[in-house]
Amino acid sequence: MKIFDEIESEVQSYARSFPRVFNRAKGEYLYSEDGTEYLDFLAGAGTLNYGHNNDLFKEKLLAYIESDGITHGLDLHTKAKGEFLETFNEKILKPRDLDYVVQFTGPTGTNAVEAALKLARNITGRENIIAFTNGFHGVSLGALAATGNSHHRGAAGVSLNGVSRVPYDGYLGENIDTTAYLEKLLMDSSSGIDTPAAVIVETVQGEGGINAASFDWLRNLSAVCKKHEILLIVDDIQAGCGRTGSYFSFEEAGIKPDIVTLSKSLSGYGLPFAVVLIRPEIDLWKPGEHNGTFRGNNFAFVTAKAAIDHYWSDNTFADSVKRKGNYISQRLNSIVAEYGEGNFSTRGRGMFQGINCVNGELASKITRIAFQQGVMIETSGADDQVIKFLCPLTISDENLKRGIDIVESAVKAVCAIESEMPEDNCYFDDVYHEVG
Ligand SMILES: *Cc1c(COP(=O)(O)O)cnc(C)c1O
Repeated sequence: MKIFDEIESEVQSYARSFPRVFNRAKGEYLYSEDGTEYLDFLAGAGTLNYGHNNDLFKEKLLAYIESDGITHGLDLHTKAKGEFLETFNEKILKPRDLDYVVQFTGPTGTNAVEAALKLARNITGRENIIAFTNGFHGVSLGALAATGNSHHRGAAGVSLNGVSRVPYDGYLGENIDTTAYLEKLLMDSSSGIDTPAAVIVETVQGEGGINAASFDWLRNLSAVCKKHEILLIVDDIQAGCGRTGSYFSFEEAGIKPDIVTLSKSLSGYGLPFAVVLIRPEIDLWKPGEHNGTFRGNNFAFVTAKAAIDHYWSDNTFADSVKRKGNYISQRLNSIVAEYGEGNFSTRGRGMFQGINCVNGELASKITRIAFQQGVMIETSGADDQVIKFLCPLTISDENLKRGIDIVESAVKAVCAIESEMPEDNCYFDDVYHEVG
C-alpha cells in the first residue's frame, strides 16, 4: 500500500521486516489483506502471550463496553480497577508471598521504568543507577540511559546521564561472576562508581539477545544489593507474565526485588497497560508526583483480570509453558547441533528462547525465508544476530512444531547455500526482492 511510503515516518521498524498489510489476527495467526496466513512467532514482542483476540477476554471486554463501563478514568477509583487489583493481589501476589503496592503509570513499559528509576532516586537521594550491558529498558530519556543499544541511544540527541554499566551474567565468559565485579566496585571508594540508588536488571534480556541470567547470578545480585542497601529493580516487562514459565521471571531464583516493572502482556489482550510494583515501605511517592493521562485504561483492567482468572488460578498454564519450553529447547539444540557448525548456540529459558547465529546477516536471511514460508519471527541482540522465538504461550503443540519446522528448514537452506557460495551471492537478493 502506497500510503505507508507516502506519509508514514521513516521510523517504522517491524513493518520493514514484514512488509504486508495485516488486517486480522486470531490466536497464533496473523492474516494479511490477501488472506495469507502467518504463524506469529513475534507475538507483539512479547505482548501477546495469550494470543491475538483471545475469546475469553474478548467476551469480557465486549460486555464491559456494551454496559458503558468507564473507558478512560485518569487514576480514579473504578470498579474495573478495583477488581483487577483484587484479582492481582489474591491470585498473583499473595500465593507468591509478595508484598507490593501497585503504581499505575502511563501505559507503556518505558513509562513504568521512568517511574521506577525516579522513585529509586528520590527515596535514596542518589542519582546513579547500575544497568547492564545489552540491557533494554525503553527509549524515553531516563529509561534510554539504562538501555545499552547504541542505535537507540544515539537517537537521544542529549547526553544520557546517571547510569553506570556493569557486565551482565556471561558477558565476560561463562565462569566469571560479574556480581563479584559489581561488589568490588561498590566497596572501593576509588572505583569511580558513585553508590547507586538502584540496580535495574532483566532476568532474561529480550532485546539484548535472549541472554538468560543464571539463578545463582540473580541471587548473588540480590545479595549484593541488600548488603549495600541498593534497591533492586527487576524489569519484567518482557520476561514476566508467564513467558519464562512462572508469572514473574524471578520466582524460580527465589529473589524478591524491591521494585518490579510490568507491561507488555499484562493486559493479556494487547491493550496498553503498565504498572510498577513497589515494596510498601518504599512507596514514598507524594500524590501526583508521577502522573499521566492514560493511567486508567479500564479496558486493560478488564482483560488483565480475565487473563489472571483464566490462566493463573492454578498451575496448569504455567506447567504447559514449561513443557512447551522444554520442547523448544530440545528442538533448538538439535537445529544448532545439525546446522550450526559449532558456531551457533541456543539461549534463553521457558518460551523465551533463541538461536544465536553469531552473524546478523545470516540471522536475517533465515528470518526472511521463514517469513516467506509463513512464519513471522524477528531477531534481537547487538547485531540482530539472535533469532528470537516468541510465539504466544497458548500456541497449540501442532503449530509450535510447524513453526519450528519452518524455521529449521530456513536455517538448513541458508546454511547449505552459505557453505557453497561466496559472500554476497545473489540468491538472497532475489529472496529479499520477493519478500519486499
Ligand atoms: C519492551 C520493553 C520495555 C519498553 O516498553 P515500551 O512499552 O516499548 O515502552 C522496557 N523494558 C523491557 C525489558 C522491554 O522488553
